[in-house]
Amino acid sequence: MKARIVVLGGSFGGLASAYELRRHLDPGRCEITLISKEPRFTFIPSLPWLALGTRTLSQISFDLSPALARRGIAFVNETAISIDPERQIVVTDNKEHPYDYLVIATGHRSANEAVPGLGPFDGPGHSLMSPPEASEMRDALAKFLDSPGPVVVGSAPGASCIGPSYEFVFELDHLLRGRRLRHQVPITFVTPEPFLGHMGMGGVGKLRQFLEGEFEERDIGYRTSAAVSKIAEDAVELEGSKPIPSTLSMVIPPLAGISAVANSKGLSNPKGFIVVDSHYRHLTYENIYAVGVAVALPPADATAVPVNFPKTGHMTEQMATIAAGDIVARLNGGKAETHELSARCVLDLGDRGVYLAVNPVRPPRDKLPAVSEGRQWLWTKRAFERTYLLSAKRGRRMPTTFGW
Ligand SMILES: Cc1cc2nc3c(=O)[nH]c(=O)nc-3n(C[C@H](O)[C@H](O)[C@H](O)COP(=O)(O)OP(=O)(O)OC[C@H]3O[C@@H](n4cnc5c(N)ncnc54)[C@H](O)[C@@H]3O)c2cc1C
Repeated sequence: MKARIVVLGGSFGGLASAYELRRHLDPGRCEITLISKEPRFTFIPSLPWLALGTRTLSQISFDLSPALARRGIAFVNETAISIDPERQIVVTDNKEHPYDYLVIATGHRSANEAVPGLGPFDGPGHSLMSPPEASEMRDALAKFLDSPGPVVVGSAPGASCIGPSYEFVFELDHLLRGRRLRHQVPITFVTPEPFLGHMGMGGVGKLRQFLEGEFEERDIGYRTSAAVSKIAEDAVELEGSKPIPSTLSMVIPPLAGISAVANSKGLSNPKGFIVVDSHYRHLTYENIYAVGVAVALPPADATAVPVNFPKTGHMTEQMATIAAGDIVARLNGGKAETHELSARCVLDLGDRGVYLAVNPVRPPRDKLPAVSEGRQWLWTKRAFERTYLLSAKRGRRMPTTFGW
């Protein structure tokens, strides 16, 4: 009988796992099914560009079904409701899917409820963690440009995905200067990080000094160790200090695991994230793996206001390679490899980019982090987006030596 592998999630973690598994496992011996609630793959790192109106959703996404079919992977467009690890089934809104091996790559749920007023659909605050949220931000920004005022950008206590808040504040500054509106818009950046550029990983070399200089040069005010407590129509409130006036705000929320995982008994920690071993295998259920944002990773250090460990796309791809390699070794024989995660990414500053590389992500490190800025990095980031989308659509993976 063929081994049945179910991959849950159709983003970086799910797609990379499915492609990697298929590369090594013969279709005659193993069937692979990818289940995702969204019919399309979206290049999430481009959401700030969607929010700023420089990309449309169709430019940064593609249909999963034909891409997966090219590699002989079945696609099921359904929403998982729960997972029963004892019976080895994924229960969706349509039926039960049995599995021999399960890879969970379901990403996050934005815990917007952690900050009263952080809508984005039922409050004045905006975010950009998903295509609907980024589209809502784009529409709010279009209205704001007709009647500009003070802006607050940043992250809430417990956030782990800090990078996009830096990208958005610099991109917005650049956009406003281009439209000769910047003089009407005081901008304040708020972050739970103890210093700029901590990024949830205890700092990235000289990034702190670079960002401090950049904020000062661009006249962007900033508050570190800031705990956003409420977003009102005309201000962002912080614990222990005066509200900051704002007519537009973008605040990255803390993340939690999706409800199907969080509500399935014995699968996750109280936040809904899955604790795994060094091969991304569940600690109790050895035929369940988790990769990407769904994985529980402890914070790098203790900070006055909580900041969680980052889980980037590049890290997600590495986790998928390791998890898939483990399943392949169990089915085909051989030794499974693992390694500590590294991270490479480029932050868009609007007029140029800054390249960051850390190996390993979690300090302490033998190797100094790399921090390099210039226009070439912005072009690299744009080229990477294009190349990734083209490759993934054709059923191919980018090597994990690249980062974005
Ligand atoms: C705004 C933003 C900018 C970013 N920029 C960068 C960057 O520049 N560089 C970088 O390296 N990383 C970046 N990241 C992080 C990167 O996007 C994530 O690490 C990556 O998306 C994680 O992939 P994932 O597969 O774990 O989860 P996700 O991308 O969150 O995908 C989850 C998948 O699971 C599916 N799913 C969810 N619930 C269910 C369900 N119940 N049933 C079925 N399917 C379900 C979803 O449809 C989706 O396909 C950014 C993140 C954000 C939000």
